[in-house]
Amino acid sequence: MLTIDNLQVEIDAEAGLVRAIDGMKLAIERGETFALVGESGCGKSMTALALMRLLPEAGYVAGGDIRIGSGATEVDVLALAESQMRAVRGGRIGMIFQEPSTSLNPVMKVGQQIVEAIEAHTTLHGEAARAKAIDWLKRVGIPEPERRIDEYPFRMSGGQKQRVMIAIALAAEPDFLIADEPTTALDVTIQAQILDLLKDLQREKRMGMLLITHDLAVVSGMAQRVALMYAGQIIEVAPAAEFFAAPKHPYARALLRALPGGERRDGPLEAIAGTVPPLSQRFDGCRFAPRCAQAMPHCARTLPQLDEVAPRHSVRCLLYAPGAPVRATAAATQAATVAFAAASPAATAAPQGPLLSVLDLRVRFPIRGGLMQGIKGYFDAVGGVSFEVGHGQTLALVGESGCGKTTTGKAIVQLLRRVATVEGKALLDGRNLFEMRGAELQAARRQIQIIFQDPFASLNPRMRVAEILDEGLAALQPDLAAADRLARIRRLTEQVGLRPEALSRYPHEFSGGQRQRIAIARALAVEPRLIVCDEPTSALDVSVQAQILNLLRELQRDLGVSFLFITHNIGVVEYIADRVAVMKTGKIEEQGACADVLAHPTREYTRTLLAAVPRLQITA
Ligand code: SF4
Repeated sequence: MLTIDNLQVEIDAEAGLVRAIDGMKLAIERGETFALVGESGCGKSMTALALMRLLPEAGYVAGGDIRIGSGATEVDVLALAESQMRAVRGGRIGMIFQEPSTSLNPVMKVGQQIVEAIEAHTTLHGEAARAKAIDWLKRVGIPEPERRIDEYPFRMSGGQKQRVMIAIALAAEPDFLIADEPTTALDVTIQAQILDLLKDLQREKRMGMLLITHDLAVVSGMAQRVALMYAGQIIEVAPAAEFFAAPKHPYARALLRALPGGERRDGPLEAIAGTVPPLSQRFDGCRFAPRCAQAMPHCARTLPQLDEVAPRHSVRCLLYAPGAPVRATAAATQAATVAFAAASPAATAAPQGPLLSVLDLRVRFPIRGGLMQGIKGYFDAVGGVSFEVGHGQTLALVGESGCGKTTTGKAIVQLLRRVATVEGKALLDGRNLFEMRGAELQAARRQIQIIFQDPFASLNPRMRVAEILDEGLAALQPDLAAADRLARIRRLTEQVGLRPEALSRYPHEFSGGQRQRIAIARALAVEPRLIVCDEPTSALDVSVQAQILNLLRELQRDLGVSFLFITHNIGVVEYIADRVAVMKTGKIEEQGACADVLAHPTREYTRTLLAAVPRLQITA
């Protein structure tokens, strides 16, 4: 269905020429789901854009070949005129993007958007096209399609908008579908429905599908074959079952070992040191060499080729080059990891009783409207939740978006005082945070800090790291002398694994993982006893997530700090949490020891939530 041969994509960037894709080669068969996986910036989305000839303005195909179909129906994508390409886009190739809200036209009814695709690519028009659009809405599971066809996108939920996108992508019955992170923005239960829908439609229509994702668990449930990309190249391609059972490339093995999960609780995750090299440089050797635990002297000066190591299984690594002794045994690839105490000494030596007790917490937001923005009603975001966080312990708060978990965290950190009515109690050492004022509140604020999902948005871009860390310290500990503050800031930078020179740099000069380290250092600056971690790793790549989770566990072990960990990632919960509380529509459905709740959920909602989570059996 699709053949890519030696594809080269370049981008004329300000910093110089970037070789975003360098020598890609793959072939996808009819009815096959082929997954392209890798961390951000590896070139997977750029591949999709090149296929659709939708590269950004500065990007162009510098060489290679892209063909769809075979025999009489074969089309040379790169040789088509733009007018012919428009017929191919949405006609022979359908595409689903990550973010349906930005892909749908907000001022056009959803039905019109589907009808437009049908009329552009099939012989159906007018009423017949509308009837077909209703049929598509029904097939993708939109309730009451006859009525909802005339709704605007804003009236639909995120999952429904993604279903409409799927209907548009499939309306012309394409031979081939590109799904670029089709479920990344969705909750797990909606994700499960969308993935099932894609599987059914694909089986029915025998479409080829290129699934682009960073989520290896999704891949394991969907794809027949997998290609792993690194720094613009495919470095391993294999049947999915073989890839997950016995990956060969050192990067693939490390990536799988970096995934959190219950079976990894007793030690640190394998964090891959270093970062992906800039693609503006010329490579004389293996692109992964600076980060590879098995690098050999000649890896830095020999370009590895994609060599077949088994039928349909190829690897770009000199360990597997023809004639090389294959040394990549699981034992040899075990990276030297720091010794890690299975049981947290801080936890065993911690004082008895809870550090934080939340009792019947209720948060109500006013709904404003009208010309004068008067209060028209109220929305109960949290409707009476109670839980405890022990000294040196981690409580995970899980649930789907909009369930009230972030609101709960913000209420405890006192971020909602001016915008919502907060009732109930949050007792820190027996004293109610919600009743504190003045100096007492100031002192309590020091003890509870928060880390957000997006560290970039929460760091002042105009301040250097030293100033960012000093700001909180000076505000919450005004009695500390400037020299003492600087000494503490230097210690913190080291503690979170940043180099001393980081202090004189601005947030934009760091990667996402480094910025999250800065946010953690800022939270730790005032020596808190509890940190509310609101999805601290969900915007990060797997290998960087592993570094941050390791860091948080080390800090808990060394400093005895407690975490209220808000997340939707069950693998992270299994790895880091002592207890878990499951939230649904502002209430706690069930809570208990992590292993008990996850292994033996008592509530139907928890069972549904857990069943929807794609699982990856990690054997590597
Ligand atoms: Fe590691 Fe060398 Fe293989 Fe590259 S070629 S992945 S450096 S062993």
